[in-house]
Amino acid sequence: MNVCVIGGGASGSLCAIKLADYGHKVTLYEKNEKIGKKLYITGKGRCNLTNATTGNEFLSHVVNGSKFMMSAETRFNSTDTMELFKSFGVPLKVERGNRVFPQSDKSSDIIAALTNALKMKKVKVVLGTTVQDIVTEEGKAVGVVVNNKVENYDAVVVATGGKSYAATGSTGDGYVWAQKTGHTIVEPVPSLVGIFVKDKDIFALEGLSLKNVTVSAVIDGKTIYKSPVGEMLFIDGGISGPIVISMSAYINRIDISNAKVYIDFKPALSSEQLHQRINREIAGLGAKQISSLLETLLPKSLCGIVANRIGVLMEDKANQMSATQRDNLVNTLKHFDLSIDHLEGFERAVITSGGVSTKQVSPRNMQSKLIKNLYFIGEVLDIDALTGGFNLQLAFSTAVACASDLKENN
Ligand SMILES: Cc1cc2nc3c(=O)[nH]c(=O)nc-3n(C[C@H](O)[C@H](O)[C@H](O)COP(=O)(O)OP(=O)(O)OC[C@H]3O[C@@H](n4cnc5c(N)ncnc54)[C@H](O)[C@@H]3O)c2cc1C
Repeated sequence: MNVCVIGGGASGSLCAIKLADYGHKVTLYEKNEKIGKKLYITGKGRCNLTNATTGNEFLSHVVNGSKFMMSAETRFNSTDTMELFKSFGVPLKVERGNRVFPQSDKSSDIIAALTNALKMKKVKVVLGTTVQDIVTEEGKAVGVVVNNKVENYDAVVVATGGKSYAATGSTGDGYVWAQKTGHTIVEPVPSLVGIFVKDKDIFALEGLSLKNVTVSAVIDGKTIYKSPVGEMLFIDGGISGPIVISMSAYINRIDISNAKVYIDFKPALSSEQLHQRINREIAGLGAKQISSLLETLLPKSLCGIVANRIGVLMEDKANQMSATQRDNLVNTLKHFDLSIDHLEGFERAVITSGGVSTKQVSPRNMQSKLIKNLYFIGEVLDIDALTGGFNLQLAFSTAVACASDLKENN
């Protein structure tokens, strides 16, 4: 078959390589002058290629589309990705949290491997060329529009990515074509982002990072999400860091105008245990000030803010704190509340949540259920996962599911 792949990112490049492997004549269009512009910035330039987990453990990190991904993940999982890149000559290593990186810590090695494989498999790579539209006839994809001209193909694979970091080329073109051809687009929203808050008292904390804390998102008294114990960071006007950006993936599709975030600074201790610890600290401090007490519990820059919130002065004597003040301190340390203002936008979003509805795409082969020979792979689909290499694996698994199907149809 004469197949066209639109988008030379992670999903499109691998799909084109596999299609060529299976004997198809493949053309890959990429609007940038190079393939893999987004891949270059992944994992802070190190490329967290995949996550060395499979099956249910892998799927538990998929926020939207885990059921849809079951078949494709079984067909081509992280073990397969690792084997493939090793076969391309890229040695890999596994770090904390099963995150897989090239041993060189260079995302450019991943891009070079894909570029090489495309060349070896004789894929026609057309760079610096934006596909303007896809062409369908009688419910079938029959080509694309490039340079105002129709180019005919037997099958069209849309691998145009989402809308985040648009400067890398992912400007949402695939959504427009999908919608025009009758597909539902689940509203794309930024995901894996920081959270801006209304509470000005924390703004001075920018740059402070905290370990071993948890965050929860609560709307109208109902807990929507509670993070595992981990790391967070105060940013200009809000909060970010691993546990916060993970939380964003669970609250970005709902109305958060009344949402609160609660930080638990002492998740290892119950309120009762924290009470006891505070009483012990106070007893040991003698006539010292509340500032000394708070410094045993928190980083210095947070102490004044907590004192303000519980209505005590840093200079007051710790051993003169009333029972209510001690209760308030425990409560503030366990439930430090922030009112959400908004989430960071697409320009800072690691991924886009939303996209082509998976209800209209076959989970087995990524073919549209509405238009024959039209395929959607990677981030353009309504699938997204947490950080840790899971999103690239979704791109690879969907790419291979599509290529394998066309193999069977060859
Ligand atoms: C800063 C950052 C860090 C990340 N780090 C990681 C990480 O370490 N691990 C991980 O698993 N995930 C990471 N991700 C997410 C991951 O990069 C994406 O999920 C993945 O790249 C999606 O692949 P894709 O092929 O679907 O889309 P993309 O990689 O976005 O590729 C789409 C391609 O299509 C091209 N294109 C679009 N429209 C057209 C058109 N009309 N004509 C021709 N070409 C077109 C674009 O130029 C682009 O090259 C990160 C994302 C960001 C932004």
